[in-house]
Amino acid sequence: DRLRLDDKVAYVTGGGQGIGRAFAHALGEAGAKVAVVDLVLEKAEAVAHELSLKGIKSIALAADVSKPKDVQRIVDTIVARWGTVDIACNNAGINMNSASEDTSLEEWDKTFNVNLRGLFLCCQAAGRIMLNQGYGKIINTASMASLIVPHPQKQLAYNASKAGVVKLTQTLGTEWIDRGVKVNCISPGIVDTALIRSEALQPLVRRWLADIPAGRLARGTDLQAAVVFLASEASDYMTGHNLVIEGGQSLW
Ligand code: NAD
Repeated sequence: DRLRLDDKVAYVTGGGQGIGRAFAHALGEAGAKVAVVDLVLEKAEAVAHELSLKGIKSIALAADVSKPKDVQRIVDTIVARWGTVDIACNNAGINMNSASEDTSLEEWDKTFNVNLRGLFLCCQAAGRIMLNQGYGKIINTASMASLIVPHPQKQLAYNASKAGVVKLTQTLGTEWIDRGVKVNCISPGIVDTALIRSEALQPLVRRWLADIPAGRLARGTDLQAAVVFLASEASDYMTGHNLVIEGGQSLW
């Protein structure tokens, strides 16, 4: 079965909740060993525990993906434990909302440090291992915001950083494909995570719903088959691709 990931070694950054947690479960259920990486160790540990209850081999690692030493340490730790890295799921990302004229330099830098610098560091550290072994799958989390400007959100730094994720993915994807390393990204629409369930956000959620042809927000489960596909040999001829999963929202 070309969609199986048996004996493959994977990591997921931002794996402690939300989309990253869904990715970690999907990769593990497809047969991979999974290192759950998160800024908050307790969150990574909780997800690694969930995986182990399903019989999936997993470890929890704390790292800030914007810090080169943290990134190198997680890659070294995974290689020491399981011998290599085959699947790198670079998913950690943050979003802050402010009107563009009020966006502080601090907000801009923080957003780019996690969403783009962090991705560069992870792709490079994992990519070196993969280029050495002549095989690897990198799956970056971009966003529908890489394509459209979601209305009425104010997120200049986020949108620009996610467009950068797509171009980074395309560039690495074409540069490394003839050495066996495929680099693709997934662009989710608006995903129903804990973050958007507060009472205060409900008017905005209703507004978003009106913009989604599918008539509902995305769920983590809507993204799981895509990450397994991009991690598997079934997608070996794909690289630099932006797989958009947004219930049609970017078309309206
Ligand atoms: P989330 O906030 O629920 O989870 C993100 C996780 O990443 C958290 O566990 C957090 O602790 C961790 N994290 C934050 N900064 C980190 C850092 N510097 N180093 C390591 N880990 C860090 O977010 P989510 O909704 O699951 O989003 C995951 C990814 O999907 C992000 O890249 C986000 O931009 C993208 N995305 C989300 C949506 C959405 O609607 N939720 C839509 C499109 C794209």
